[in-house]
Amino acid sequence: MNIGRQKVADESNYIDVGRKSLVHDPVEGDDTKITLVRALGSLVWDDKGKEYLDCTSQAWSNNLGANDPRVIDAAIAQMREITHARPNFNTLPLLELTARLRDIAPGDLTRIGYCLHGSLAVEMAIKLAFRNKPGRHNLIVLQDAYHGRSITTMAASWPHPNNPFLSIQPRFVRVPHPDPYRPRLDFDVETDSKLCLQLLEDTIQRGVDGGVAAIMLEPIMGNGGHIVLPRSFLAGIRDICDRYDIVLIWDEIQSCFGRTGAMFASDYYGIVPDIMTFGKGVGGGFPLAGIMASEKLAGFQSGEDALTFGQFPVAMAAAVATLDAIISDNLCDNARKLGNYATQRLHELAARHPLIGDIRGPGLFVSFELVKDRATKEPACRAAGEVYKRGLKRGVLYGESRYAGLGNLIKVKPPLDCTLQQMSHALDVLDGVLGSIEADGIA
Ligand code: PMP
Repeated sequence: MNIGRQKVADESNYIDVGRKSLVHDPVEGDDTKITLVRALGSLVWDDKGKEYLDCTSQAWSNNLGANDPRVIDAAIAQMREITHARPNFNTLPLLELTARLRDIAPGDLTRIGYCLHGSLAVEMAIKLAFRNKPGRHNLIVLQDAYHGRSITTMAASWPHPNNPFLSIQPRFVRVPHPDPYRPRLDFDVETDSKLCLQLLEDTIQRGVDGGVAAIMLEPIMGNGGHIVLPRSFLAGIRDICDRYDIVLIWDEIQSCFGRTGAMFASDYYGIVPDIMTFGKGVGGGFPLAGIMASEKLAGFQSGEDALTFGQFPVAMAAAVATLDAIISDNLCDNARKLGNYATQRLHELAARHPLIGDIRGPGLFVSFELVKDRATKEPACRAAGEVYKRGLKRGVLYGESRYAGLGNLIKVKPPLDCTLQQMSHALDVLDGVLGSIEADGIA
């Protein structure tokens, strides 16, 4: 059933001076805007000393729990040596991190590029694709995609409501994709997947002026609604890219480094793109992102991709320690085990809570949709907002989806080293929260 995806209101990083000066007072009218002062593992504390279990991993980016002493020690040690270097010099953390990433790279994705934000990594991937396909003007993306908040990556994402930057945005071609929970017409997901592949091929042949340089997608669509794309669709796109000589970019900024229970979603699906972006979990809480590209692609020429802080040695040293910890602590295994436990428990909760419409994984990419009615699948957006608010009061931070595809998704995505006891607590609290929302008749 197609209920029309209403993209809902958004969050912002912008903090005005007035608000900053209120840092120790609740912002008027918004008691959910807590001030965080400390974090350790899956826990965070606010300025009143209240402890929260963090099922958001702070924008799904603490794959390793917050402030892991191994990461902090590595960062401090690096700070004593050198904190900043111009991109045309090597540094030891850059060389070490590159070696680590090459060791775990899917397929031949062993050309590595760095920057500090996911959005810039996506731009780097786009630039590299166009660099390799001169004369082609089109880049195809999926309709519910999210690739960042720079001008270019906003244009590559779902149509943002009230987007004030339209007049200066580059144009991308958006194509439909399957959604296993909401297939088109009465199709099963495999038929929907085939239809979308056919529409994609039609678009390449007849829907664009000139050639297509690249197709870019998130294998598991994060901000656009936690849509787990079927393997058949991803394999079909790989095949189309091979047949039409198009660069395939997978944006793995949200799915990388163990979140899905595999090191990369590429390993989870057994499909290798030509360029992959990474970010979020790699830096152990420090800003770092980048791309891994196929050896078959040409690299950048001098001056095409050099940013002042393109390599931040402190974040890179933190990333080396983070990757070592993810591997030595078997966090991919833990993400799988804990994710299975969470989804199983959520299915048990669904038997008691009619609000739960659909439950998703894989690994610790865990979420569920709240619906007013399981038959119509109408999103229960108010209920989703209440889960966040009531969870906060009870000391658990659930991920909500203010900007997501339907605004009714709850995410349970703590760090990958979260304990079974902590996860069990998060789900016990959720049971109570859903019960109280249902008792109040909120949907
Ligand atoms: N791509 C994906 C898939 C993301 O989830 C995000 C962040 N949510 C980005 C790109 C942008 O990353 P950043 O916020 O670090 O610029």
